[in-house]
Amino acid sequence: MIIASERSKRPDDFRPASPEKKAGGSVFCPFCMGNESKTPPEVFALRENGTSPDGPGWRVRVVTNKFPALSPGAPPPKSYKGVFQWMPGVGVHEVIIENPDHDKELSDLETDHIQDVLRVYRERIRAIEENFHYQYVQVFKNKGKEAGASLGHPHSQIVATPIVPKRVKEEVYGSERLFRNNKECIFCRTLREETTLNERLVLRNDRFCVITPFASRSPFEMAIYPLRHSPFFTSEGDTELASLARVLKTVLTRLKALLSDPPFNFILHQAPNPTVSQRAWPGIEQYFHWHMEILPVLTKVAGFEWGTGFYINPVPPESAAAYLREAHK
Ligand SMILES: [Zn+2]
Ligand SMILES: [Zn+2]
Ligand SMILES: [Zn+2]
Repeated sequence: MIIASERSKRPDDFRPASPEKKAGGSVFCPFCMGNESKTPPEVFALRENGTSPDGPGWRVRVVTNKFPALSPGAPPPKSYKGVFQWMPGVGVHEVIIENPDHDKELSDLETDHIQDVLRVYRERIRAIEENFHYQYVQVFKNKGKEAGASLGHPHSQIVATPIVPKRVKEEVYGSERLFRNNKECIFCRTLREETTLNERLVLRNDRFCVITPFASRSPFEMAIYPLRHSPFFTSEGDTELASLARVLKTVLTRLKALLSDPPFNFILHQAPNPTVSQRAWPGIEQYFHWHMEILPVLTKVAGFEWGTGFYINPVPPESAAAYLREAHK
């Protein structure tokens, strides 16, 4: 990472000159309450008693992606031809419609509703991981056009893949190596040092803390960690998810206030499917520590980044943390 302080920027520099106008109410939205028949059938939902699937009365609703990147199937065989290797695109691609109201972003919801969204993440990951050939389940959210959202209605997505993705492998192998060197989970150690230094700490409560990472890839990047060591998001209880919901609401609200509702991505990283983890990375429960990464989309990935894998970040994470500590509604 290159922290380019001579290009140093303040939050104002990232605010749009005139905030993007939201599309009018006349645009048809398949995710709005009442339009359930316009989506693929419901996979899961939290709904009022007495209401039926694919009808109104839901609070959080999960459907298959209409244009899935991967589709369910049997464990896919690998094929080879010379140096070329491939496998069929077997996996899962679901959309989590976070709430029935088109204009309520995740950060606008009450914390108990955000907790419900997190519970749905947990239940879907657990259910998908029962199929052992779905080696990794990635939960993510694209908010705003520039962050990749094609529909304005607040939603998150789940993609399960038949192999462990490259980025996840990098984190797993990296944390394993550092565990061997330090005899301690690198995430736990980082949290301890960040808390002592207090330079990049955005906030902490009884169970979670939020930091701007030392090597932040983008301005105002944040990471949320459980304070108690835990490799799997799926093993968190409702109390922990309530606490996470409060933290998430706080930081997303601050991000929105500070940067005028910027586009962002967030991702959930946890250890791969337990069946795969036990086989491929015995001991992973000691060194992997689940977390969420929040990446505002404020800079462009261009030639230098593609060529090198470096990221140029014009906002030092220490300044970002200071702004985010101060930002209130
Ligand atoms: Zn809608
Ligand atoms: Zn840890
Ligand atoms: Zn990560």
